[in-house]
Amino acid sequence: MLRIAIQTKGRLNEQSIELLRESGVMIGEEKRKFLMRASGLPVEILFLRDDDIPQTVAMGAADLGIVGYNEVQERGYAVDVIQKLGFGECRISLAVPKNVEYTGLDYFNGKRIATSYPNVLKNYFDQKGIKADIHTITGSVEIAPAAGLADAIFDIVSSGGTLISNGLVEVEKVLHSEAVLIATPGLDGEKMAMAQQLISRFESVQKGYGKKYLVLNLPVTALDEAVAMLPAMRSPTVIPLANSEWCSLQTVVDEKELWDIIEKLKAIGAEGILVLSLEKIVL
Ligand code: ATP
Ligand code: MG
Repeated sequence: MLRIAIQTKGRLNEQSIELLRESGVMIGEEKRKFLMRASGLPVEILFLRDDDIPQTVAMGAADLGIVGYNEVQERGYAVDVIQKLGFGECRISLAVPKNVEYTGLDYFNGKRIATSYPNVLKNYFDQKGIKADIHTITGSVEIAPAAGLADAIFDIVSSGGTLISNGLVEVEKVLHSEAVLIATPGLDGEKMAMAQQLISRFESVQKGYGKKYLVLNLPVTALDEAVAMLPAMRSPTVIPLANSEWCSLQTVVDEKELWDIIEKLKAIGAEGILVLSLEKIVL
C-alpha cells in the first residue's frame, strides 16, 4: 500500500485529486476522512495542511506527497523532488510600496521585511550579502507595509492583483514554484515500483495538458504542405476519403499554437475543422 499526502483544502486540493483521478486513483466523494483508501490502485490518501506535507513525507509517514515547491524549500526537510506537476504555478517575490524609489537589492539592507517564507528569504539574502530584519507572519503579509509593520514584503505572487490592490510593486522574483511530487528518500523496492507506475501515469496525464486533437479535411494536393507545418508525435494520421481528391488529417497540437495552425490550414484549403479535447498521451 502506497500512502500519498495531499492538501485537505486550498489551492492545490482539487487539482491534486483530479491528477490522481485521471491517473486511475479514485477518491470517493463521500465525507472525506483524514486517511482514506482510494480505489483503482492500492493507495491511501492522507489529507493534510500543505505546511505539514514535506515533514510527513520526510519522516516516511507518507511515501509520496503533492505540495507546492515553495513549501518544500521553506521547510527544508530531506525529501526527493520527483516530478513537477504543471499546476499551482506562482513565484515568491520581494515587493515594496509603490511610492518608494527602488534602486536595487541594497534597498533591503537594514529594512524590515514581512514574510511567511523566512527561510527562503534568509537564504536568498545570505547569498546576496543583504542584511535585513526578517519578520515572520503567517496571515495577510501584503497588508504589513500599510499597517506600519514592515518596509517591504516577501510573498507569493501569481497574477499580481493582490500586490496592486495593496499599493505594492514586485521588484525581485526570487523563487518560481509549482506543485511537485515528493517522495520519502530510499523507498523500498515494492513501494518504489508502485511509485514509478504512478509517476509514468502522471506524465501521460500531464502530456495531455494544454493539448488539442485536430481533425480536418484537406485537398490531397495540399497534403505535403500541411504535413510540413504540423507538429505531430511522429507524423499526422492521414485517412483517405470517399472522394479521392480529399483526405482527412488528424493530429495533436499545442493549444497555444492552435489558432495559428488552423488559420494556416484554412489558407491551404482545409475544411470541416474539428478541435477535440485530449485527456492523456501515453508514449
Ligand atoms: P493550508 O490550509 O493547507 O495550510 P494554505 O492557505 O497555506 O493552505 P493555499 O493558499 O491553499 O495554502 O496555497 C497552497 C499552495 O498553492 C501554495 O503553497 C502555492 O504553492 C500554491 N499557489 C499558487 N498560486 C498561489 C497564490 N496566488 N497564492 C497562494 N498560493 C498559491
Ligand atoms: Mg499552509
